Amino acid sequence: MTPTMTQGLTETLNAFEIAQKQFADAADILGLDEGVRKKLRTPERCLTVAIPTRMDDGRLEVFIGHRVQHNTTRGPSKGGIRFHPNVTLDEVKALASWMTWKCATVGIPYGGAKGGITCNPKEMSQGELERMTRRYASEISLIIGPEKDIPAPDVYTNAQTMAWIMDTYSMNKGYAVPGVVTGKPLALGGSLGRNEATAQGCVYIIEEAAKKLGIDLKTATAVIQGYGNAGSIAAYLLHDLGVKIIAVSDSRGGILNTQGFDPRKVLEFKNQTGSVVGFPGTESISNEEILNLKCDVLVPAALENCITLKNAVKINAKIVAEAANGPTTPGADEILFDRKIVVLPDILANAGGVTVSYFEWVQNVQELYWDIEDVNSRLKKIMTRSFNDVYAIHKDKRINMRKAAYVLAVGRVAEAFKLRGLFP
Ligand code: NAD
Repeated sequence: MTPTMTQGLTETLNAFEIAQKQFADAADILGLDEGVRKKLRTPERCLTVAIPTRMDDGRLEVFIGHRVQHNTTRGPSKGGIRFHPNVTLDEVKALASWMTWKCATVGIPYGGAKGGITCNPKEMSQGELERMTRRYASEISLIIGPEKDIPAPDVYTNAQTMAWIMDTYSMNKGYAVPGVVTGKPLALGGSLGRNEATAQGCVYIIEEAAKKLGIDLKTATAVIQGYGNAGSIAAYLLHDLGVKIIAVSDSRGGILNTQGFDPRKVLEFKNQTGSVVGFPGTESISNEEILNLKCDVLVPAALENCITLKNAVKINAKIVAEAANGPTTPGADEILFDRKIVVLPDILANAGGVTVSYFEWVQNVQELYWDIEDVNSRLKKIMTRSFNDVYAIHKDKRINMRKAAYVLAVGRVAEAFKLRGLFP
């Protein structure tokens, strides 16, 4: 556990404990009995595997990997695979449960899973990464498959990683099985729109929230923390709607111009120089300061736990749209709710990614591919409906949007569990 002490208050930043608390809050509101709670908070299957890998210098290294299937009551489990030195079984369990609730929030027919290997991919060659990935894929192939559990990319894994997993699984089957993973390259059955899906889904949710709050996006301002896949695409999609982007940041720091700037040009600049910092016509600002800027929409799109008890009182936005997973701690959630700042929670706001992953899987299974208009119109329909489902609970029960999303999601999984009953 990594507690922080702020103004005499302590809060946990441990993903597993935060996930358990978010679930318990929803279970209390739903009045679930202890047996159902135990069932829904316990992962169904945790597989830990040793991954012997030949390194380029001839050494044999053994990495440890996990695949956790949290819940499959509503369908096959779905969730990314992360390569990172800090991967632990506890973290993978928490991330797997978030996937269960995310899929249920947007009503796609999946449960939740997550995988990870404890490794430092930044220090590994492509050859080492490929050998490690293929052995991991082979070890977990016992429990994955298009009808069982469908991995996707996460931190430090990408379309190439998915291609290796798809190939390894297919080699063992004896035929091509594209539907075993999503987030694949287009040439292997990836979906159009997958790359933009998380940001696009988040922007659809922001549009709905703005309507409810009476914010005209054509005259609104936005601040974006993190300028990778989710953050940079969210910036230019918002800009296309007329929103003035006044500040953005990446791991090296932030940039500010209250008159606004062109986020596509910032992306070009970052691609050339490695950072947004130094973009002409802007002043530098720290990653802490950027969160406190006055704006209509703040989009955290980088790290977990960036809005905490320490800085929640200083947030100066009307909407916080969580493109990142877990950027707001439970303590900060309460403060923002009291301050009438609307937090669009991760399990709703960034669910566009898993939704288009679902579309990719549907296309693979049907062997029928859609154009981008089809993908985006279906995505918009699901995100808009989900926002309205969550918003109705938020209003009805007078709870924040995160609790409302959890009440919707946990309620859906609990209902499915009760209907299926207990085996044997
Ligand atoms: P990414 O690696 O493409 O981008 C991350 C960005 O965050 C980079 O610009 C990096 O410089 C920046 N960053 C790192 N540390 C920072 C710091 N201290 N302050 C400010 N910026 C910092 O990752 P991504 O795919 O865009 O994911 C970002 C977040 O969105 C993560 O929480 C991820 O779990 C979540 N998310 C992504 C997807 C997706 O489809 N990409 C889906 C769901 C959720």
